[in-house]
Order: sequence, then structure tokens, then C-alpha cells
Amino acid sequence: MAAIEDYAPVVGESIVEELFLLAKQLGGVSVQNINSTAVGGGVAEILMRMIPLLQQLGVNVRWDVIRGDDKFFVITKKFHNGLHGVDVDVSQEEYDYFLEVNRQNAEMLSFDDIVFVHDPQPIGLVEKRTDDKRKWLWRCHIDFSNPHPQIWKFLERYINRYDTAVFSAPQFARRLSIKQVLISPSIDPLSDKNKDLPESTVDEVFQRFGIDRSRPVVTQISRFDYLKDPVGVIKAYKLAKKSVDCQLVLAGGGATDDPEGAQVMEDVKKEAGKDKDIFILFLPPASDLDINALQRGSTVVLQKSLKEGFGLTVAEALWKGKPVIAGAVGGIPLQIAHKYSGILTTSVEGTAQWIKQLLNEPEYAKKLGVNGQQHIKENFIITRHIKDYLLLFLSLFHKEDTVYF
Ligand code: UDP
Repeated sequence: MAAIEDYAPVVGESIVEELFLLAKQLGGVSVQNINSTAVGGGVAEILMRMIPLLQQLGVNVRWDVIRGDDKFFVITKKFHNGLHGVDVDVSQEEYDYFLEVNRQNAEMLSFDDIVFVHDPQPIGLVEKRTDDKRKWLWRCHIDFSNPHPQIWKFLERYINRYDTAVFSAPQFARRLSIKQVLISPSIDPLSDKNKDLPESTVDEVFQRFGIDRSRPVVTQISRFDYLKDPVGVIKAYKLAKKSVDCQLVLAGGGATDDPEGAQVMEDVKKEAGKDKDIFILFLPPASDLDINALQRGSTVVLQKSLKEGFGLTVAEALWKGKPVIAGAVGGIPLQIAHKYSGILTTSVEGTAQWIKQLLNEPEYAKKLGVNGQQHIKENFIITRHIKDYLLLFLSLFHKEDTVYF
């Protein structure tokens, strides 16, 4: 694990000094993060990097994961899809079961000075809140622009019992009785997922997977989830392939709180058929170096999401200077200015068209990657995220909205 001082060459010494100053102001306040999976997906990805760095800064912080059975995670996946605008049906019995599992977890947990709850799965823990001494934060990592009305109504009651709600993009803000803040996620440039790699490592990984680096490679890294539209990715690749040579890599694993992966994988395999230029890679949890190498060795990176909270994979690819074609949804437009730091698309045909264009115009593609890398460096590196969190924590103990330091 990198030391916090190692970030100075990337973001500047003053940024790191500032983090120490802010952390000191927090004193001994204890902070507890709670989510629903230790591996898989963006939330776990961020917490895994963030917690040790906060600890190095002297913050008294920990991370708990709630427990649930298959039934619970089927329900929460319905919530997830419904909040992303998918038409789902949640019965009263399912709402009750969801609350029951939250209550069981609340009984098992002890709470710190700041309880920082991530996403809807553990949202009901706030029922345990008894007074205002302990502060409660709810961080929403998902695309909240068009939530299912019934699920939203159910969750709203719980959200309003928190002190502050944190969203990833301005368009997710809702009418709430509590304070809302906007904090974008981030990537860690020194993690195995993002650190520089020698070409020989990239070669080795491509060789191991049987992918030919001498021909163009188009890649999407994502959990196998309908909202990441892997089937749409294959359709776009097939259209593009009619006029340009390329290979397609679809790589990803699952998350313990996502029960839909196997079904999505089946659909993906069916759509891929027997095309030997399509590589469907099911990655185990500890695949960070492989993902890093796959992103670095790709000619073009796709993130054809239909809904997206932020899309860490976009930031990861841009950080590596890759031209990215991504769905114009959720937090992705915060990362990509169309035709400047990447390409935004809204359809299979559009994605196919841009795959062709970027493969045919490598100089233009390179320029997009260079601009994208700069944008990520300026806005979405983990030190900025830590600073935002420290300010947020401090603000909870101040009556005014402004925190001075
Ligand atoms: N990821 C991973 N293994 C996989 C698929 C994804 O480590 O098999 C990582 C990916 O590199 C990124 C995160 O998981 O860091 C996914 O975050 P994102 O915001 O893109 O999507 P989410 O899965 O949270 O919807």
C-alpha cells in the first residue's frame, strides 16, 4: 500500500500537507463506513484504497460490511435496478424483509461518532439512530436521475433521517429535507489497478488471455450487469467490424451483492456466438493488475453504460491516456467532454461509428486520451476525494455551512 506522502509527486506537496491539517482538525472523531460488499464494484474499490490512507492521516476510521442472504440481495438488486429507472415490482413482504435484515445488522453493529452509510442496502440502519450526538451520512453512488417512484418513496423516509446526503453528480440531487452535497468519486493512481506498468507486463497479460496485441483491441471492463450493456457492446463491435479489423474484450467479474451476473453472462455468450475475436473474460476479485494491463494495452476503451453512478472504469482508462467511448449517462459526462476528452454516445450505432472513426484516426484518438488524462488528474484523483470527505466530516460539527481551516 502506498504511503500518503507518495502522492506528492502526482498531485503536489501542498495538497498532501493540507490533508494532514484537515485530518488533525478532526481530532479523535471516529468514522465508520458501512456498505454491503467487501469486493466488486466501485464502492468497495474506493473504500479499499480510502480507508488505509485516512488511517495514515491519523483519522480514526473503519469499514463494516452488512450481512444478508440471497433473498436480501435479490431485493436490493431490484432496488438498484428500480432506482436506475428499470420497471421492477417490489412487494410489501420484500420491503419488510429488507428492513428486517437491516434491523438484524443494526443489532450486531456498534456505531461510531460518524456513521457513513453507502448506498441503499444498509440505509435502514438509521432506524437505530437515537439522538443527534452521533452524525449520520448517506452516500448514494448510483444514478438517481429517474428513480422508480415507489422505491424512492420508501427510501426517502430513511434518507431524511440522516444529517446529510452525498451524491456523485448534480443531476442526482433530490428534494430532501436534509442537506445535500456533491462529491465525485475518484481513482487511486498508485494502486495496482492504475499504477504505471512496464510494456512487458502488458504483453504477458495479453498473451496469457490469447489476445493479439498487433491488431486493434476494443475493451470494456465491467461487472456483468445489464445496465453496463455488454450485449449492446457486442452489437456495436459487430457493426464496426464490418469495416475495421478489431478484437473485442469484455472483462469483468461479479460482486457479492449482485445476484444477476450469471444470467447476464449467458446472454453475452449467446450474443458473442463463435466469434474468435471476442474475448469474454470472467475475472476473479484480485485481478487489478490484469485489469490495469488490459486497459493499458487496449486501442479503445468502451463504457457503454445505460445508467451509471459515476463509472470508475472511465476514469481508470482516461488516466491511462486511452481514448474512451462511453454512454452519456450519470456521472460519465463529468469525466468526458464530448470530442475533447473522449466520446459520448447514446446508441449501438453511434458507438459502432465512433469505434470505426477512432481506429481509423489514431492521432485524434490519442489527443482525446491526452486531454482525458489531464482532466482526471485535475479532478478525480483520490486526494481530492479525501479532502472533500474531511471537509464534510468537519462540517457535521459546525452549525454554519462553511468550514474554515
Ligand atoms: N472492476 C474490477 N473487477 C471486475 C470489474 C470491475 O475490479 O471484474 C472494478 C473496475 O475496475 C472499477 C470498479 O470495479 O474500479 C467498478 O466501478 P464502476 O464505477 O465502473 O461501476 P460499478 O461496478 O460500481 O457499477
